[in-house]
Amino acid sequence: MSTIFSKIIAGEIPAEIIFQDDRVTAFKDINPQAPVHILIVPNKEIPTVNDVSPEDEAVLGHLFVVARQIAAEQGVAENGYRLIVNCLGDAGQEVFHLHMHLMGGRKLGPMLSRRD
Ligand code: AMP
Repeated sequence: MSTIFSKIIAGEIPAEIIFQDDRVTAFKDINPQAPVHILIVPNKEIPTVNDVSPEDEAVLGHLFVVARQIAAEQGVAENGYRLIVNCLGDAGQEVFHLHMHLMGGRKLGPMLSRRD
């Protein structure tokens, strides 16, 4: 079954796409948690990090190269930013198409929220 991100990659539903090549697509998060909040997504539909295989090494490395480029273009490279990949329930993954969040443009605070 095609994920919402596959539909964005295919141009079937709208998104603010800021980068696309034959391996990855990057677009603005619809519910941004920081002034800069971009999702960088492999065009190949990999559901979670648990589904990654050795043949995915090149595309996953490419995510970081694209993240670096986008961070510079978005003006957050110098002050810093955070890259997050959530996997399954405890991490709160909502879309089962592996993606990297690139967040920046403000102090992002501690990496994890406090336990209740
Ligand atoms: P995660 O919890 O890591 O699976 O993150 C999923 C992210 O996808 C959330 O930050 C959502 O705001 C974002 N999202 C969901 N639907 C869309 C969409 N149609 N366009 C852009 N971002 C989306």
